[in-house]
Amino acid sequence: MLHADIKKIAALEMARCPNCSHAIDQMGNRTHCQKCSRQLTVLCISCQTNNSLLFLNCMKCDSDFRVVGVEYYSRQVAKLDFDLKEFYRLDQLYQRAIFLEKLWRFIVPTVLFLLGTPCWYFSNNLWGLLLPFDLAFIGYLAVRICGQKWATTKVEIPLEWAKQWKPISLAAKRQETKKDEMEKQLDYYLNELNRFRQKNY
Ligand SMILES: [Zn+2]
Ligand SMILES: [Zn+2]
Repeated sequence: MLHADIKKIAALEMARCPNCSHAIDQMGNRTHCQKCSRQLTVLCISCQTNNSLLFLNCMKCDSDFRVVGVEYYSRQVAKLDFDLKEFYRLDQLYQRAIFLEKLWRFIVPTVLFLLGTPCWYFSNNLWGLLLPFDLAFIGYLAVRICGQKWATTKVEIPLEWAKQWKPISLAAKRQETKKDEMEKQLDYYLNELNRFRQKNY
């Protein structure tokens, strides 16, 4: 009987890990179970206070810290997701621009070469014979110099974007990593919220 009463006392319940029931000898600043490493407190991100899993509101700032966590990380994930979607859209266009530029590097000199070949029938000097090669070389140079500008105009992405593509894609990689972290935090606060609601309502 006495044993059952003690079990109802919240403060003593805290002395056992809710995951593996391992007894926690020194609560103090310990926030993780020594046996299974499960987090034993939930951080209020508004005021950086570690709260007991049994508290509804933050003991320092009185906020509903689980909901605050869920809302904050949902916003972060949504924002990163929005930016990344725009990056993926531009990345597709950028890949198409690269493809076009490569294609033109082949096609433009070839077409100019073929356009120059009739000279072989009408001209009997060396310059006439070389003309198709000259035209092809001019075509190659033109694509080499202006190809990126033409291709980005064609697929409608800013030329500056194309020129800065490496730092932009590196930034996107960092955003992807950040989004993963934010999603993990969101999952964590969602789990904490669900667990708390199932226990208390
Ligand atoms: Zn444990
Ligand atoms: Zn707080």
